[in-house]
Amino acid sequence: MEAENLKELLVEELKDLYSAENQLVKALPKMAKAATSPELKKGFETHLEETRGHVARIEEMCKILEESPKGTKCKAMEGLVAEGKEIIDEHDDPETLDAGLICAAQKVEHYEIASYGTVRTWAELLDLKDVVELIDETLQEEKATNDKLTEVAEAINVSAMAE
Ligand code: FE
Ligand code: FE
Repeated sequence: MEAENLKELLVEELKDLYSAENQLVKALPKMAKAATSPELKKGFETHLEETRGHVARIEEMCKILEESPKGTKCKAMEGLVAEGKEIIDEHDDPETLDAGLICAAQKVEHYEIASYGTVRTWAELLDLKDVVELIDETLQEEKATNDKLTEVAEAINVSAMAE
């Protein structure tokens, strides 16, 4: 593959991620509001702040690449957010709702981790060091969020079982 084509793919994927992150900025407050565990609520609020930073980092990357981050809709994130909304609409029991919300949130984090992991590799191949650094900062936050969700889930799943 020519470097030019790889760069084109990188830009496309960054646009997709930009749409995904912006959708999350809208979805996370709803998930925080729906969560009943204070720890989970706090987790979503913290990640909302981080997610705003992810949006800003993609803007920065696109500035380096002299491209616009806009113009794409991430359909995968649209689906993941819709599934999260279904969980909120369909469950009233607090622990069950929280366990379902964690499931939805972890699917989102895994999607982001896969996408950022890939664009990082491409940016490395293209020798775009500043872009790699920015991607890496976000990727670390996505991984930490996923780990935190696993930790919170351990306690919540036990409570959900007791219902
Ligand atoms: Fe993110
Ligand atoms: Fe995230």
